[in-house]
Amino acid sequence: MKRPDKPKTCPKCGSAKVAAILYGLPVFNDDLERAIDAGEIALGGCCIMGDDPLWRCLECKHEFGKR
Ligand SMILES: [Zn+2]
Repeated sequence: MKRPDKPKTCPKCGSAKVAAILYGLPVFNDDLERAIDAGEIALGGCCIMGDDPLWRCLECKHEFGKR
């Protein structure tokens, strides 16, 4: 699955702490934990509704970027 380029800032608050939302049940390993700790990835849960946002702002929790 190809993602569009990650936005540099949140459209709502302008924070640069934008994480890619990962859906499904991820396999936890050191790489994934590091990415979550670094704020690169946020877990979106296992339920995919079809129009889920791609990105989550870690500052204001705003989710954006429909596929
Ligand atoms: Zn924000």
